[in-house]
Amino acid sequence: MDSTIMHYNLNIKSIFWRIEKLYKDKEIISRTHEGIVRYTYSDFALRVRKLASLLKANSIAGETVASIAWNTHRHLELYFAVPLLGGVLHTVNIRFHESEMDYVVKAIGDRAVFMDKDITYRNSTLPTFVFDERYDDDINSQEPTRNFPDVDERQGAIACFTSGTTGKPKGVVYSHRSIFIHSLSLLAADVLGISSSDTVMPIVPMFHISAWDLPFASLMTGAKLVLPGPRPKAEDIVKLIKEFKVTVGAGAPTVWIDVVNYVERENLDLPLKVVVTGGAEPPLGLIKKLKELGVKTYHAWGMTETEAIATVNKSDNIERISEQGYPIPAFEVTLMDPEGNELPWDGKSTSELVTRGAFVAKRYLNDKSDTQIRWFRTGDVARINPDGSVKVVDRLKDLIKSGGEWISSVDLENAIMTYEKVLEAVVVGVKDEKWGERPIALVVKKPGRDVSEHEIIEYLKSLNKFPKWWLPDKIIFVDSIPKTSTGKLDKKLVRDQLRSIIESSK
Ligand code: ADP
Repeated sequence: MDSTIMHYNLNIKSIFWRIEKLYKDKEIISRTHEGIVRYTYSDFALRVRKLASLLKANSIAGETVASIAWNTHRHLELYFAVPLLGGVLHTVNIRFHESEMDYVVKAIGDRAVFMDKDITYRNSTLPTFVFDERYDDDINSQEPTRNFPDVDERQGAIACFTSGTTGKPKGVVYSHRSIFIHSLSLLAADVLGISSSDTVMPIVPMFHISAWDLPFASLMTGAKLVLPGPRPKAEDIVKLIKEFKVTVGAGAPTVWIDVVNYVERENLDLPLKVVVTGGAEPPLGLIKKLKELGVKTYHAWGMTETEAIATVNKSDNIERISEQGYPIPAFEVTLMDPEGNELPWDGKSTSELVTRGAFVAKRYLNDKSDTQIRWFRTGDVARINPDGSVKVVDRLKDLIKSGGEWISSVDLENAIMTYEKVLEAVVVGVKDEKWGERPIALVVKKPGRDVSEHEIIEYLKSLNKFPKWWLPDKIIFVDSIPKTSTGKLDKKLVRDQLRSIIESSK
């Protein structure tokens, strides 16, 4: 029997309706190059309507345009004005090299570029809009666009490229529908449970996977939104949290490690309710510190191809919080071997995590090959507990194969990071004639603390957690560890650096 329900497009327009009609006086706070900008949802909606007119006046309404920008209100206005007119906003990674920016802008066919004033990217063939006073005046002088089309929910709204940790960046286009459903899913009480009484600060960049869709989810439910702007340091983050009474902050573990260390050093409190951490496994020490500070940790897992957060663990049991948690609504997971056989959810069987759902990519941009896939292969190796909680062991390509057996780089580095004198650690496999690969650790000491290689190895032994052959062959002390554009340990770069150190010592 056919349904008797009307067709209603789950599009950005339906989120915009809520912003304008339901939450007029709710606030958006934005830290910009020029200082703090504070305005209401009403002011925001009017600016979006005027910006839409500016897009029309420049003949780029309904087109794909690039943004190269920090988390600010101007970027947020583009998140709405562009898709509301049926166009796609291509969020370009700020930390890409100019040649990579060129590559992605061409690959997607952008028709204009919007950017913050500290961005050095220059493209002589495309109209470029720089976020400055003149830009604001140009918007403000427009008549507001009255009507927006009812864009089909399957149409693209936001595009994003992977950060290229594994090769050339690959493009993914999120649809209106995927954004709507993903945002709604994030709001569920058992997921992030964000409500209109929350103040949300996405520190995770708006130039990568739409800041995990948190700006859309927050505005959909009338939460106060704080956008931390250009290059936010721990000091800026803590200041914003205090000043605007942020309840939920979201960012990669490295961001929170910095924040917690800053707070400890300065003897400050951290009046947050919830930290959402994702993008990499959070070290146990971080979660313990947050707990001591009275902050709950929600541990989320996701990737560009799953539109960010797709599983969440809110466990109170600190020993289980390193699990990536339960799939959120409209998202499914299972384990699959290379031949496509499913493995049991017994907490022991380990294989590639595969996913499907309303916000999972079926293909990459410009890839015409297989659009009929039933499961998307994540490249992560995982176990699934009988209750459905996922435990990611490592990325397939980061696992270290020693003597035919696997060593998890993530388990080792997180164990090293629980040592009180260690600030950060990364473990990678290096070629070894006898064993194939052997683990080597790069360690950053806590400021003012001294620690030896022997001490760390003894500490790892004392944990009684790892077989002897798992222990790193060498520990190299460094001042810092290279991070990817989204704040993750950049293992590709670490491997390259180690290779050149090893080559030059031969
Ligand atoms: P990139 O591959 O460009 O770094 P993503 O941001 O899409 O881009 O990274 C997704 C990957 O990050 C996942 O496949 C997984 O390996 C890792 N990841 C994300 N969240 C977590 C987490 N909570 N725990 C462990 N690994 C994670």
